[in-house]
Amino acid sequence: MYLVYLVFLSVALISTILAQPPPGFFPPPGFNRWQNPCRFRPRHPRCRGFRGPGNGGFGPGPGPEGPPPPVPIPVITTPDPLAGVPDGLRAFVPQLPKLSAEDKKSILNICATTGGCKAQSADTVAKRDSILQQEVERLKATKPNAQNELQQQFDMTHAVKQALLFDAELSNDVVAANDGTFQDDTMLTIAQAAAMLGTSASSRAKRYALFFEAAENTIKKWDISSPIQYLFDNKFADTEKATIKQGLQDIMKKTCLRFEEATALPGKPHIFYQKANGASYCGLSYVGVVDPQNVVYLNFGSPTGCKNMLGVAAHETMHALGVTHQQNRRDRDKFLTINWNNINPQNYDYFAIPDAAGGKTYTDYGVPYDYYSVMHYTFNTAAVDVTKATMTPKIKPDYFTKILGQREGISDRDAELLRKMYCMPDCVDKNVWCGYWALEDRCMTGDYVDFMIDNCQKSCDFCPGQANTIAKG
Ligand SMILES: [Zn+2]
Repeated sequence: MYLVYLVFLSVALISTILAQPPPGFFPPPGFNRWQNPCRFRPRHPRCRGFRGPGNGGFGPGPGPEGPPPPVPIPVITTPDPLAGVPDGLRAFVPQLPKLSAEDKKSILNICATTGGCKAQSADTVAKRDSILQQEVERLKATKPNAQNELQQQFDMTHAVKQALLFDAELSNDVVAANDGTFQDDTMLTIAQAAAMLGTSASSRAKRYALFFEAAENTIKKWDISSPIQYLFDNKFADTEKATIKQGLQDIMKKTCLRFEEATALPGKPHIFYQKANGASYCGLSYVGVVDPQNVVYLNFGSPTGCKNMLGVAAHETMHALGVTHQQNRRDRDKFLTINWNNINPQNYDYFAIPDAAGGKTYTDYGVPYDYYSVMHYTFNTAAVDVTKATMTPKIKPDYFTKILGQREGISDRDAELLRKMYCMPDCVDKNVWCGYWALEDRCMTGDYVDFMIDNCQKSCDFCPGQANTIAKG
């Protein structure tokens, strides 16, 4: 969905170039064919010239010419979010924020003045190597083929980032940082990356709807019928463990969620807190439940300084619970000015709205945008000039700029989101856009109130008392 961006070059020029890509034009030099967005989008009009490995054998498109991936790329089929939606509500389909021509010019200008945006920096390469090494080590007992599988995972994660640039028509000039992560501190599973790339068995690639409440979502919620168990890597100092526990306590005291330290390796999904190995990030996590365990890397000894690890632990644990970053919300442009003239273009994914496959991946459950969220990044994230902002609050900027990226603990709205996700068992949201509709005041409006009562109970607060449910004990 929302693949319409302003074109800053003339349409004629683009279509001429893209219909017949000269050698080396697309993909850019040094760009693995594997990671080419066209591999996953053979029917995209701008992919007509693509002759790479196939799309995993799914659907029409170029046949598989390269070696098969270690893990088959899953086919994700999910329902159309507009099926059964009343006509009046269909007018309220959220639009994806667009880059203006000026924004694109700013991005390309940075590439022109910094010597290009295609080479991978030494930091990026080191980060990828460090994560790969740690992950291979962690998984060696359960997955002997982990290295190949991780390589595929990282390549597909990079393809997701490159697809976002492709959608913005920047992929000829910018190669995303290939560091193994998405948005700096999350890792995507192969299935999640495939879902975001829109790998599909059918031609209905724009009809993906993935969100927490949907059984077919690649982001899985936790079973909370018993406490979520966790383990510590034995390299943590006692004081560091205490800090992580305080971060968990912060979540526990504001929600129904319960965490419990395991005394032995649990035979079910659990969180494994692992000390990060001298890396450049403060924390790193998968999003939602992953098999066999959710690793959360925490960096207590960063040379660049990771302040307030309690909040970092809470942030990464919220990723593990299935929550994404605040500044990537679909409605963030109402609340932030993104200063593209100061953002490293290779970190475009930090600020893109990741709906590449029409992936309506996340719901906000009608919880308003929150500058105080522990899931927000700081004002100068991914800055070219770190003394200047990469995002500026539109409301009281002098005040809220300093609030962005707080890591004191989860905010009231973070807690509300978690309660709506996990603590309202008899209350349902059936549509990924319920949160959007709620924030657009659609809950009690028009002739579709019955639909909202049936389908958007969480986002519309139609379950009295439950939103404030906090388990005792
Ligand atoms: Zn994060």
